[in-house]
Amino acid sequence: MTTNKSKELFERAQRSIPGGVNSPVRAFRSVGGTPLFMERAKGAYMYDADGNQYIDYINSWGPMILGHAYEPVVKAIQAKAMLSTSFGAPTELEIEMAELIKSMAPNVDMVRMVSSGTEACMSALRLARGYTGRNKFIKFEGCYHGHADAFLVKAGSGVATFNIQTVPGVTAGVSMDTLTAPYNDLASVEKLVTENKGEIAAIIIEPVAGNMGCIIPQAGYLEGLRAICDREGIVFIFDEVMTGFRLAAGGAQERLGINADLVTYGKVIGGGLPVGAFGGKKEIMQHISPLGNVYQAGTLSGNPIAMIAGYTMLKTLKDNPGIYKELDDKTETLHKGLKGVLSSGDVPHVINRLGSMISVHFSDKPVTDFAAAAAADNARFNRFFHSMLDQGVYLPPSAYETWFISTALSASDIEQTVAAAEKALRA
Ligand SMILES: *Cc1c(COP(=O)(O)O)cnc(C)c1O
Repeated sequence: MTTNKSKELFERAQRSIPGGVNSPVRAFRSVGGTPLFMERAKGAYMYDADGNQYIDYINSWGPMILGHAYEPVVKAIQAKAMLSTSFGAPTELEIEMAELIKSMAPNVDMVRMVSSGTEACMSALRLARGYTGRNKFIKFEGCYHGHADAFLVKAGSGVATFNIQTVPGVTAGVSMDTLTAPYNDLASVEKLVTENKGEIAAIIIEPVAGNMGCIIPQAGYLEGLRAICDREGIVFIFDEVMTGFRLAAGGAQERLGINADLVTYGKVIGGGLPVGAFGGKKEIMQHISPLGNVYQAGTLSGNPIAMIAGYTMLKTLKDNPGIYKELDDKTETLHKGLKGVLSSGDVPHVINRLGSMISVHFSDKPVTDFAAAAAADNARFNRFFHSMLDQGVYLPPSAYETWFISTALSASDIEQTVAAAEKALRA
């Protein structure tokens, strides 16, 4: 496989774009090597600038849950674009989108559209603070909630990949209000709540974490957080940017049976266009401007092209609940295949999976929090990643990311992936 064109493009990109990329993990820094520049994709496959084909396990970090260039979404975008790409005035489609989200997601009485998961999370946090009149909040080590200042404390995803402890540009004043606790450790949250009695506005969590590899909440953990929030008048925010419309039509709230006060969305909700949303209980949401006085706005929020892409995607998911069974089945097949290969290879490993989120940590201990994910043999992951890539399987270029499965993945794609994994283990 030659990747000369990608190498040339990366050289050229670095002269005009910091690090050659518009989002850090894409640069392959942690796994080493040169990032591949993509040209097109269809279904389960991506094609790079040199024409190589890859089975895609990133799926644009989630949105391509039905595979690339899903025709109804592409066609809807084309038709809508003819009617103007933006108005800066309300449209009926935005109501339909809000109604559709409400019909799928539990506990969402009202929803506000934004343009990214970052915006959704930072706005939800501002709202929780405005609503409670409190400043502090709790997040969990290794969870990623976008790149707003307040969240860049012990964050996952690229922040973890590059081992960034403190982020220059984030002031101490901002960081002081961000309290952190290890994932799956209820006692440490109780301690923070006691130490900061009456000062905590929100607890924000990835209900299934995907930004330190895939990490599953232990039995009773989310229930425990819910109870603490109820007792202390804290707003419980589910960051469902990754899990929303992926683990079930109603996301992690539905799948795990836990109610959140506010929920944030991104990724799948835009069908591949820049869309995010935050929503929740009316009692809280009514504090957003112009109804309330917590300010939040966006020139391209509710953009018609973005809305029709997201609407078409969500409507497909809502009308075809079998999709979730299909995603689960395919991911389970992959899980079993990988398990077989890894076990016979005598390699210490942990495969965490829930629904269509799955990841492999090369660890001999259970991986239930960030410390365990960081203690795994991530050098081995990097070798594994490159061997898979050479064999035409595109995994996330970091051990700190979950893999995303799409319905487009065929049984033979999965077989091919497992066979590649067997070879990759020897790398
Ligand atoms: C991707 C992600 C975000 C940030 O979304 P962007 O659209 O990249 O700004 C926030 N939270 C979680 C859980 C994510 O996975």
